Amino acid sequence: MAGRLEGKVAIVTGAARGMGKAEAELFAKEGAKVVVADILEEEAKQVAENIKKNGKEAIAVKLDVSKAEEWKKLVDMVVEKWGKVDVLVNNAGILSMAGVEQLTEEEWDKVMNINAKSQFLGIKYVLPAMKKAGKGSIINISSIYGIIGSGAAAAYHASKGASRLLTKTVAAELAKYNIRVNSIHPGVIRTPMTDDLLKDPNNAKGLLGTTVLGRPAEAIEVANGALFLASDESSFMTGSELVIDGGYTAL
Ligand code: NAD
Repeated sequence: MAGRLEGKVAIVTGAARGMGKAEAELFAKEGAKVVVADILEEEAKQVAENIKKNGKEAIAVKLDVSKAEEWKKLVDMVVEKWGKVDVLVNNAGILSMAGVEQLTEEEWDKVMNINAKSQFLGIKYVLPAMKKAGKGSIINISSIYGIIGSGAAAAYHASKGASRLLTKTVAAELAKYNIRVNSIHPGVIRTPMTDDLLKDPNNAKGLLGTTVLGRPAEAIEVANGALFLASDESSFMTGSELVIDGGYTAL
């Protein structure tokens, strides 16, 4: 049986570990040729090697998502190698828990560059290839922290809010090219980003907050949502926000 992404070429950023890794592995399993892009070169190589060992196609590429020239090189290389880009998952991101009182200007800029500017750059640089193909699916990984506040993590919330509305306006702008743009809003997911916070039961309870399912999710539970948005099954979805949060924002 053909995979749900058979014949597609997908770039996943931040794919060396955590949710990006789960997305890269799942997309490859479903037939996509996957670009495992990350600033962690060795770990990204390992992910691509494992995908290839399972008989699927992947390449690892070192990418700092906040650098325009690196995006340009990456997309040129992918188009040269595989001829097109069908799917972009703007997943790479960093966490910053500082509230405004502690937050420095440097940290604000770093978080906004890696979490928000990166998504603008990714969209801008894959656009020519997607326009040429007459279709595409772009998925921006935001957060429930892009929908609600928490009383901390000021730069992180701002960056994830930017991702949410960038998604909606770009979806409207690019619809004429048959390019769909959607955001995913994960709740608390067990990844290297949250491992330490979840180890301490008191921290874990605070972090889980109003998650009505009462547990953190595994990365694959978000990857399954990304797979749906990447595939043609979501052909009438654009400018949407897919909330995968165990009911956190239901209350
Ligand atoms: P993670 O820290 O496990 O993985 C993030 C990946 O991004 C890492 O491989 C890291 O090397 C990469 N990265 C960081 N800066 C980069 C840069 N400048 N260029 C390229 N790659 C870079 O985190 P995760 O939990 O898998 O998070 C993935 C995405 O999901 C992030 O955008 C995060 O903000 C978001 N998110 C996470 C949670 C959660 O609970 N874990 C919840 C909501 C949203």
